[in-house]
Amino acid sequence: MTLTDLEGVAKQGGMPRFVAKQIADWIYAKRVTSFDEMANISKKNKGWLEENFVIGREKPVRSSKSADGTVKYLFDAGGGNRVESVMIPDKERATLCVSSQAGCKMNCYFCATGKLGFRGNLTAAQIMNQILSMPIRMNKTGGNEQGELTNIVFMGMGEPLDNFTEVLKAIEILTSPWGLAWSPKRITVSTVGKLPQLKELLDKTAVHVAISVHTADLAQRESMMPAQKAFPLQSVMKLLQSYDFSGQRRLTLEYIMWRGVNDDVAHANMLIKLIGSLECRVNLIRFHKVPGVDLHPASEDRMMMFRNILNEHGVKATIRASRGEDIEAACGMLAAGKGTQK
Ligand code: SF4
Repeated sequence: MTLTDLEGVAKQGGMPRFVAKQIADWIYAKRVTSFDEMANISKKNKGWLEENFVIGREKPVRSSKSADGTVKYLFDAGGGNRVESVMIPDKERATLCVSSQAGCKMNCYFCATGKLGFRGNLTAAQIMNQILSMPIRMNKTGGNEQGELTNIVFMGMGEPLDNFTEVLKAIEILTSPWGLAWSPKRITVSTVGKLPQLKELLDKTAVHVAISVHTADLAQRESMMPAQKAFPLQSVMKLLQSYDFSGQRRLTLEYIMWRGVNDDVAHANMLIKLIGSLECRVNLIRFHKVPGVDLHPASEDRMMMFRNILNEHGVKATIRASRGEDIEAACGMLAAGKGTQK
């Protein structure tokens, strides 16, 4: 719940408005998991809260750890649905990749989540639960090696902007002073480029944005990502041109590389042309085999060649290190236990 939601709760229970702030403080700053622990709230009010609400913190039903330290958590999303979160430790950082939907409507050809079809939207509570239930804690000033979350990426199951209201609410809770008080610079929302929600996200928040591009050949993109038809990349790029990504806010273009599909010089040139003068960085991502998908990862050499062409043309490009492949936690592999892993 946001502070406004909690003020509604306080009103409903006949409590003064300031109690809403106290509840937020107990839940988000002090991380209590029962009303009983809310020491400055009267016994009567605690009793009423207990009767009418739950704190809603549920532990993951399962977790699996990769040889590289990446941990995948499986959460019950109700109605027989399960969603996954992936925690990726990396030196002084610990990034949590959260899900926003059970399954996904976007049906990208190369994605295990897309193969599940759409099962339902997660509530802001279910999104926040993935974050607050982590066995590691988050702090306000940045994580450290004692195991504190430093970054959140909305790159798990689902298209975040297709569940925009709840995702926006979760961002509000994460970044508000009464909530977790995180800087928006620690949050990235990844999208296929769903319009007009992308514009609203850019206008209403200061979070980083990642766009799943994957190919600048628009006909090819449409054949692999049906979303291209409804939200053409050309329109997405045009919108992005009107925002400033040269300062604190970062724009990333995600590009999964497939052998013989989008890994040649011509595709590199198309991508350079698409980017034009837009300030952004390109993340080149290794593809991980998805059952039933007839695509293969591009070779290391091709990936390096592709990166070099982009860099030579002044486009910042890096090859993203792949994490958690052995537990099916890598990009595009999340299918809530429906994959090949035993
Ligand atoms: S890649 Fe993202 S948007 Fe596409 S089907 Fe998978 S989860 Fe949905």
